[in-house]
Amino acid sequence: MKAVILGPPGAGKGTCAKIIGEIYGIPVITTGDMLRAAVARMTPLGLTAKSYMDRGELVPDDLVNDMVTERLKESDAEGGFILDGYPRSPRQAEALERILKTSGKKLNQVLHIKLEDKTIIDRLSKRRSCPRCGAIFHLDNKPPKAKGKCDACNTELVQRDDDKPEVIKRRLEVYREKTQPLLDFYKKKGLIKVIRGDINLMDLPTTLKRVLNSRVRTKPHEQPQG
Ligand code: AMP
Repeated sequence: MKAVILGPPGAGKGTCAKIIGEIYGIPVITTGDMLRAAVARMTPLGLTAKSYMDRGELVPDDLVNDMVTERLKESDAEGGFILDGYPRSPRQAEALERILKTSGKKLNQVLHIKLEDKTIIDRLSKRRSCPRCGAIFHLDNKPPKAKGKCDACNTELVQRDDDKPEVIKRRLEVYREKTQPLLDFYKKKGLIKVIRGDINLMDLPTTLKRVLNSRVRTKPHEQPQG
């Protein structure tokens, strides 16, 4: 499995990627998390990336491409991987092809998660995350057991700076401008499969397995009936 997950911010890419990683026993490579870790460690990459991330803009392609190139060289990615949040622009998609080609590999799945803006805005503005272990909560749909505290490690939950309303708006614009063209790029290669972003969490593993094992479809897979 060498897969990419595409979709707007808040569509549930991280959740789907984690499930797929567990099903196939492959590492999930999440560029947003890698960049946030670089920001927290105040590395040169993190210091540069922060100003872009705070504004909801994409971090320059070359920086992200180099970061992913290094990550894909690690031994755990030998047998497969799932990329979450990368590629995000045509230049990144081309770079990914080159990176994989050098080791004789090719992508074999691109999953597109679809979700309407109204739901995205609700999800992101009510999302809270644990700065320590990365667990994600939603104030209405998945509230923490103790108010404001992570269920797993009891750390104070935070709202990501880029989950604030004005930055969400910009992230959605950037998605439409820069990332959506990739859908055509991968559609032409016959790689895209579509899944709805509002599938019930309980049904998600089964639906993901079904979609990934199915033939290419560009219409969303609906929630199973009955
Ligand atoms: P995410 O957690 O995927 O929503 O990413 C958060 C922020 O990290 C984005 O708004 C970008 O600023 C940056 N970022 C993550 N992945 C990429 C990427 N592939 N290319 C450029 N910037 C990225």
